[in-house]
Amino acid sequence: MEKTPSNSNQQEHENNNKVVVVAAKIQRLRCSVKNYEWGKAREESLVAKLHSMNNNNSGSSSSQLEDHGQPYAEFWMGTHVSGPSFIASFDDGSQTSVTLKSWLSHNPNLLGSKVVDKWGADLPFLFKVLSVDKALSIQAHPDKELARHLHKLQPDVYKDDNHKPEMALAVTEFEALCGFVSLKELKVVLTVPEVVELVGAENVNLVLQITDEDGEEKVKPILQSLFTDIMTASKERVAGAVDRLRTRLHNESQVRQLTDKEQLVLRLEKQYPSDVGVIAAFFLNHVKLIAGEALYLGANEPHAYICGECIECMATSDNVVRAGLTPKHRDVQTLCSMLTYKQGFPEILRGVPINSYVNRYIPPFEEFEIDCCVLPQGEKVVFPAVPGPSIFLVTIGEGIMCTESPKGYPIKEGDVLFVAANTEITVTSASELHLFRTGVNSRFFQAS
Ligand SMILES: [Zn+2]
Repeated sequence: MEKTPSNSNQQEHENNNKVVVVAAKIQRLRCSVKNYEWGKAREESLVAKLHSMNNNNSGSSSSQLEDHGQPYAEFWMGTHVSGPSFIASFDDGSQTSVTLKSWLSHNPNLLGSKVVDKWGADLPFLFKVLSVDKALSIQAHPDKELARHLHKLQPDVYKDDNHKPEMALAVTEFEALCGFVSLKELKVVLTVPEVVELVGAENVNLVLQITDEDGEEKVKPILQSLFTDIMTASKERVAGAVDRLRTRLHNESQVRQLTDKEQLVLRLEKQYPSDVGVIAAFFLNHVKLIAGEALYLGANEPHAYICGECIECMATSDNVVRAGLTPKHRDVQTLCSMLTYKQGFPEILRGVPINSYVNRYIPPFEEFEIDCCVLPQGEKVVFPAVPGPSIFLVTIGEGIMCTESPKGYPIKEGDVLFVAANTEITVTSASELHLFRTGVNSRFFQAS
């Protein structure tokens, strides 16, 4: 049932004989789901579970999920037009026709003045949950300048003019490809016959002549040329190389233990036969996060999520330049020319405890940070007021959320709540409660 926000979401105050509508500092949200083909089947997808709880917590008859057997890939919490969140009633949980985006554009005070000054009357971040069954495309996200350029040139492909730094916080074991391998590993990659076949012996010799003392700057142009050779090789050459690679590794697996990377490329080949991404994977770091570890990605860094479930946060944007492991549009030239070609294993964040129950993940981007809170049954935790907006997501358990006002809001698994700037939140748990909060990076407020 669609309706406008009820009085419980707004408080009317008499003020100099005028009625001023004050938007409540907590808003319950109904959020969108994405059924991309790399997602997990409904029964095993955290995204499907949270989306179903998020909708069914409403008790509205229109909330019944229609399932046509499609995978559940992403749960979006925020204001991006491709997957908007709607204000929901606290009375019966039903969805209103008001998006969080339009709500904030009419109530910019809820974002805090520093946020509005910097980013306008909108959330600077987009919060997501991902359930990954099959590898996502090898991709990179443009910096602001390139994003504006691509958007102007191809607005149908590059829908935003914003950059998209992102961070993935593992909630299960989570695998990804991320950034280029070190020079030492690159030299090993260039002994793989099918790689050599695509890049040519001359390029290989150039890399082998580089020493550690030469430094990264000397490697970058050669790495760029190698990587571009592979990514732009004809479909037939790539399919032949991938084919030979698969056959050779299957044969060799009878007589020796395959390396981690070799096992990975065989998995990728099963998912994306003949795809250039299978070969490209040799050049990227294979990162395995355990629950509670996070990975962040700056602009122009190549990456591909492989499997597992994570909480993800990014700047509000959906700009992706893809070049492999995908049936979607590829923009190989743009990808190869935009990458930084920085080498080495990425930094893994394990969070900084800010009290007994909350761990904070702070990436080097202004737009966002993530708090992970695990609250044992019957305990209480305070989230101090911050000068920017927050979104809370409950993934396990139930409890009560309170602001300064005595009224408490019951919360449970699947609930998503928008919390206005400068609002202290107290959460009390009725059972063990897991929740995630994302907000503007606390360093942004410290710096300004
Ligand atoms: Zn990405």
